[in-house]
Amino acid sequence: MPASRSSRRTAAPKRRRAAAPTRARRARVLTGAALAAHARAIQRLLTAMYPQAHCELDYGNALQLAVATILSAQCTDKRVNMVTPALFARYPDATALASADQGELEELVKSTGFYRNKAKNIIGMAKALVDRHGGDVPRSMSELVALPGIGRKTANVILGNAFGMNEGIVVDTHVARLSARFGLTTQTDAVKIEQALMPLFPRDTWAMLSHLMIWHGRRVCEAKKPRCAECGLRDICPSAR
Ligand code: SF4
Repeated sequence: MPASRSSRRTAAPKRRRAAAPTRARRARVLTGAALAAHARAIQRLLTAMYPQAHCELDYGNALQLAVATILSAQCTDKRVNMVTPALFARYPDATALASADQGELEELVKSTGFYRNKAKNIIGMAKALVDRHGGDVPRSMSELVALPGIGRKTANVILGNAFGMNEGIVVDTHVARLSARFGLTTQTDAVKIEQALMPLFPRDTWAMLSHLMIWHGRRVCEAKKPRCAECGLRDICPSAR
């Protein structure tokens, strides 16, 4: 028999049980020295797991790395590496790229997706390099991010890998995802994640840290199905299942 309106009105509300704190919640409240120690423990394990970690884009100089990084947006490094040998052979320097025919460049980079925008940005960047920097890739964050198609992430890739300068930490989709899973930050904006990570790790390890996290994100801690059972971080990872 259905409950009357009055009985529904007077029924005592169900009490919600407070959720037990999960390991992830506990880790997110780590601060100060405890958070720094947690970060360093993660870094030590990742370093042991991936001693060979490196940038997986193929390049021979800073310009080629800049071009490859622009092409890597929403695309795998493997696909980019299939496209760049012909591109670098056809356009060996910034002057050649600056005068490239957009349609021809689009054809060369088509398989990387978003090819119209990428071709436009590559030509725009090359023109700016020729106009402002004598065809060379500049070595400062401020000059790099002033170039068409170059944001802070790409600038960090160039500075860290082509020039060995640790100006910041590359925060791509893998670094963002793993930073949250490791309990290092609750930030979701790339620049804020980078700001949260920088004080937790020695500056001279920033470029390598990105490689380590990207390697782990590609091989084990995948976006859809993290392979926690076989993960070397499972004992200290707050998101381990
Ligand atoms: S334990 Fe799981 S969530 Fe944590 S880093 Fe490893 S794969 Fe990722």
